[in-house]
Amino acid sequence: MALGEFELIERYFTRPVRRAALGVGDDCALLQLRPGMQLATSTDLLIEGRHFLSTVAPERLGHKALAVNLSDLAACGAEPLGFTLSLALPVADAAWLERFSQGLFALADAHGCELVGGDTTRGPLAVNVSIFGEVPTGQALLRSGARTGDDVYVSGTLGDARLALEAFRGGLVLPGDAFQRVRVALEQPQPRVALGLALRGLATSAIDVSDGLAGDLAHVLRRSGVGATLRLDALPRSEVLTAQPETWQRQCLLSGGDDYELLFTAPAHRRDAVQAAAESACVPVSRIGAIEPEPGLRLVDGRGHPVEWQLSGFDHFRT
Ligand code: ADP
Ligand code: MG
Repeated sequence: MALGEFELIERYFTRPVRRAALGVGDDCALLQLRPGMQLATSTDLLIEGRHFLSTVAPERLGHKALAVNLSDLAACGAEPLGFTLSLALPVADAAWLERFSQGLFALADAHGCELVGGDTTRGPLAVNVSIFGEVPTGQALLRSGARTGDDVYVSGTLGDARLALEAFRGGLVLPGDAFQRVRVALEQPQPRVALGLALRGLATSAIDVSDGLAGDLAHVLRRSGVGATLRLDALPRSEVLTAQPETWQRQCLLSGGDDYELLFTAPAHRRDAVQAAAESACVPVSRIGAIEPEPGLRLVDGRGHPVEWQLSGFDHFRT
């Protein structure tokens, strides 16, 4: 059964508006910001083969396309309002669209973020979401605010998504149960929106971990004009990752990517407030290091001894 472009939009992507002044169906959508708020916006393009595997379930792809954008809002401490969805589809497959939209709307509803527009075209499978949120003027969390003496924190655990990718590529075999657990980390990341909101006025800087801890922390350090030391044994990891050889653990923790956890800094005298924020958001956070004046990123072991490492040295997976 061939589905036309407008029938497809109407059937799978049009719902009554809630918070927006105008949603799908006109030339523009209209979103009303509350007084004193700034618009926070971000966009991510996901291409089959590059950002997701063809084996991914459609509902999980719908989830992830929105999740990575919600994660950007979280990293800025912004509250989600709405999003647009641009889709390139090789065919208009009703069963696929049904499942994709179900995964997308389940996450959207969980965050009160509504679909207000988009674009639909035939082409190799690609999904783009642009997201809009609001944050009180001047209160957005930025990459540039880390200061000497701040603690460095990360939410949740790191590395599972990379482990799953490696299992998909055949570089590693995991028992069925372990594989399912890391696969969820890769395919259905949970954006830390509530934590981002709770960190407003508390975190001095924040970023979401999408390209790997070391690389993303380097962005914060450069933008803030500082350096940091991280404690390797303090990096939070799942049971599945803990069961892997130490070199793999390090690779996945430091340069894994696709984690979508929040990496942030806060003054050392605000540790209790950080833990309270984590509790209020129901997300564990780990204190993993400290900001220092000397530029660059250093690693130490459990006894405080320097650990030699280089990003390029972690190439066990690149064979
Ligand atoms: P235009 O030609 O003015 O860009 P379109 O004909 O492409 O509008 O789209 C018609 C309406 O459907 C617009 O409101 C657009 O935002 C919306 N739309 C198109 N594709 C999608 C989609 N994948 N998800 C949600 N809304 C969509
Ligand atoms: Mg159009």
